[in-house]
Amino acid sequence: MSYISEVTEELKGRNPGQPEFIQAATEVLESLGTVLAEHPEYQKNAILERIVEPDRQLMFRVPWIDDKGVPHVNRGFRIQFNNAIGPYKGGLRLHPSVNLSIIKFLGFEQIFKNSLTGLPIGGGKGGSDFDPKGKSDREIFEFCRSFMTELYRHIGADVDVPAGDIGTGAREIGYMFGTYKKLNNRYEGVLTGKGLQYGGSLARTEATGYGLVYLVEEMLHEKGMRFQGKKVAISGSGNVAIYAAEKATAFGAKIITMSDSTGWIHDPEGIDLAAIKEIKEVNRARLSEYKSFRPHAEYSTSGNVWQVACDVALPCATQNELNKADAETLVKNKVLAVGEGANMPSTPEAQEVFIKNKVLFAPAKAANAGGVATSALEMSQNSQRLNWTFEKVDSKLHDIMKNIYRQMSASAEAYGFKDNFIVGANIAGFKKVADAMVAQGIQ
Ligand code: NDP
Repeated sequence: MSYISEVTEELKGRNPGQPEFIQAATEVLESLGTVLAEHPEYQKNAILERIVEPDRQLMFRVPWIDDKGVPHVNRGFRIQFNNAIGPYKGGLRLHPSVNLSIIKFLGFEQIFKNSLTGLPIGGGKGGSDFDPKGKSDREIFEFCRSFMTELYRHIGADVDVPAGDIGTGAREIGYMFGTYKKLNNRYEGVLTGKGLQYGGSLARTEATGYGLVYLVEEMLHEKGMRFQGKKVAISGSGNVAIYAAEKATAFGAKIITMSDSTGWIHDPEGIDLAAIKEIKEVNRARLSEYKSFRPHAEYSTSGNVWQVACDVALPCATQNELNKADAETLVKNKVLAVGEGANMPSTPEAQEVFIKNKVLFAPAKAANAGGVATSALEMSQNSQRLNWTFEKVDSKLHDIMKNIYRQMSASAEAYGFKDNFIVGANIAGFKKVADAMVAQGIQ
């Protein structure tokens, strides 16, 4: 049995009931054959066995009391996966679907994504199965305070720096930062995604969506194309989706779809982003309200955005939201490029369809790395006690995304997988971490 198969089998046996984690880890392991053959020191140093096992896994009780005085108990997680190249860094997801498998898959992906940014950050992820939807502001505060009352002892500016993710925005980060500061009596950059008044970075809100579009523009440009004049289908209408739509529109594209967890809209004339921001960012409401802004648009609760013909598809909602049949529909409709804004939105079968049909495909760990890269820029500003301008942060983000494209493209070509950016991103992200682990000994 090959080294990769041995580690994969062991991984499956050791982690029963963790399908998302096994899916993410298998995808990375399977793409490393040529690198392992070229670098026997990786096997000698048990790099694969060590890289699939988190440094530390924290699970804890999060009790809180609702507005009626009723107590609730949620489960909190923080997976500190790998700190070979820097302090653990990764978001906190608050969503009822959160479990150990999901946090481990996200933490594992984060190792390679963070490595691709070229910045000194390790991989981690956390969150809770708490559902922020429909909760009052006081209930959100109660939950965040309780969550941080346990987490604070495990994190720190040079240890582990959590950030936002699904369900964790500026409000939640603010409450958590306040609790950390109160418990530790330290003013430090322990969380990113903070408000601008207390250490946040300009352009962090926009970073993941903008970064996605910068990377896809670079990928299109290499093949003599541009966003200009293209029809773009986006899923989701959260942070990533909104700012991807904003930047793609600025580049001259027309956004024709968006979605949320209850339905999706198709606006052939181009989505009215101001209306989306008002519905989702200001009113925290449902996308069905879009029709009251643009009566000609279609709203549907069956099917999904991928059935609408487009030139570029940007899945920006959640994992496994684009399956094989969706990929086949997109190919039939002549999609040119797919850029993953969400984490692991395409199933492995969907990815195969894109690669087989030579669709330009930018995988999440490269395409959505702009968020964490800008979080690392927030950490730098906090350490320096400085605030950079929007233009400075945005221009650094743009350079980082172009560089990620170049790294994944060059690695794909160097290892015989030209234009397969899934393999390219995995190899480029892996090598830097693996070399650091070899240099630091078997720990
Ligand atoms: P948000 O919570 O802001 O938005 C998520 C969006 O996806 C919402 O529109 C939500 O709908 C929709 N959604 C969630 N679950 C489902 C589902 N099961 N089916 C259909 N739609 C769904 O999150 P973000 O935009 O921050 O994150 C989106 C993705 O991007 C996640 O995979 C996240 O891990 C990834 N990501 C985010 C980064 C960031 O900086 N924010 C950085 C890197 C990756 P509804 O409004 O109904 O909840």
